Amino acid sequence: MSWFKYFASLALLSVGLAPGHAAIRIAIAGISHESNSFNLTKATLADFEEADALSGNRKQWLETTAKSNVNASGMIAGAAKYGVELYPIHFFSAVPRGPVDDRGFDSMVSRIIQGLKRGPAYDGVLLVLHGAMVVDSYPSGDAEIVRRVRQAMGPKFPIGVTHDFHANVDPAIIANANVVITGKECPHLDTKERGFQTAEILARMIKGEVKPVQALVKPPMMLNLIHHDTYRAPLKAIVDASKATEKLPGVLAVSIPGGYQYGDVPSMGPSVIVITDNDPALAKREAERLGALLWGIRDQLKFDLPDPAKAVRMAIEGTKFPVTLLDTGDNVGGGSAGDSTFMLAELVKQKAEGWVMAIFDPQAVQKAVSVGVGRPFELPVGGKTDKMHGEPVMIRGKVKSLHDGKFIETEVRHGGYRYWDAGLTAVIEAQGSTPDLPNLLILNTNRTVPLSIHQLVSVGVYPERQKILVAKGTIAPLAAYEPVSARIITVDSGGACAVNPAHFTYKMARKLYGFEGGK
Ligand SMILES: [Zn+2]
Repeated sequence: MSWFKYFASLALLSVGLAPGHAAIRIAIAGISHESNSFNLTKATLADFEEADALSGNRKQWLETTAKSNVNASGMIAGAAKYGVELYPIHFFSAVPRGPVDDRGFDSMVSRIIQGLKRGPAYDGVLLVLHGAMVVDSYPSGDAEIVRRVRQAMGPKFPIGVTHDFHANVDPAIIANANVVITGKECPHLDTKERGFQTAEILARMIKGEVKPVQALVKPPMMLNLIHHDTYRAPLKAIVDASKATEKLPGVLAVSIPGGYQYGDVPSMGPSVIVITDNDPALAKREAERLGALLWGIRDQLKFDLPDPAKAVRMAIEGTKFPVTLLDTGDNVGGGSAGDSTFMLAELVKQKAEGWVMAIFDPQAVQKAVSVGVGRPFELPVGGKTDKMHGEPVMIRGKVKSLHDGKFIETEVRHGGYRYWDAGLTAVIEAQGSTPDLPNLLILNTNRTVPLSIHQLVSVGVYPERQKILVAKGTIAPLAAYEPVSARIITVDSGGACAVNPAHFTYKMARKLYGFEGGK
């Protein structure tokens, strides 16, 4: 053992020592995954292990996480307020993709349960679960985790759970956990607050100050992703009502998650969870009242977006430029391919002028490199990753320029990234270009989320001089593209992240108001 390790383990020991009083000990663990049932790439153990946050040093993990704004950060603050000792076990998370395979899931859950049994006698556990995890054998992976923890730790063991706003809350998780609290806000700005609230209620439960009871109501409606902005109508009124309800005597917490429409599961859709202090009738009454409020806005949740053909036509017929078309189906940040061709095919077919679009196609970049700058380029581009993102589109033009793909974003943009690497990049002047209005196809070697306008500027494209810009995303590109756009059109395009459920074949989700695709 090195000296460093020796001192580190001494420090570790001292964290757990609190002589003189029997402190409450709560374990904290998490498995977080938002699973897209229609994404064919499975999430395996390897994807999660890469992101296992607990490297064996509990103190360091607590210190680092406390500085962040995630659910666990709030749990740490909540625990501190009540003098609770927190024991991190394992935190697994992976980027959103297809469902989690059974093997990986079993391994992660059993490691958490082993940790719960091996540690000091815990008084309870706080679980950070996304709430939209699908596992091959379990429509709600989150409910299955809690079922197994409940089974392992017994009927009296206090279990508190936080979920993301995009949770598809399964009735089984309400039955097996004592406290389930989801994010209230989208964009998710209240994660730390919700972690704090969950830790607070669980700590007070362990101290015998409160006895949480929960009621769940699931109005039979769909809340499409395009309406998930909780800071605007119609959802803002519902969130405000949930906050007001939380202030009523006897009410401990209220959650109204929007659900996650890419989870083809029986519990897909929005929910209302009300937690009261030992008053099941109050919990039920308030959950039903808020459920009725949510049901009441169903006619305001229209889905009326143009398809790629109509959107390109609207852009061409516009009077003010540039027009930015948001290619929602190929939302690179949401885990889609980045090489969808639905927009490109329409731009070419309708002979649009002055368009710019970046697309992931390393093979086409290599072709451009081998051809050389100024030389003719002819190759089917895009649609090569899977079968969900359209067919390759024949591009005929010339190689305008080649770049290393590195650029810097100095403004505050979604995610806050500064140093970017789109990989080796080629700009193709495509068919239909004129000296004043070129059609520019930017071929990237790396999948690049369109969060920075410098993805274009750094390769010599002046966005403000072009007529049509295509950005692959839904909300995230807005900060970068709004300042240079005269108009923004959100497009109902296909792909792994299509916002229109009609693009997918559902097998398990229920039929809901605004969603005919269910059974
Ligand atoms: Zn979310």
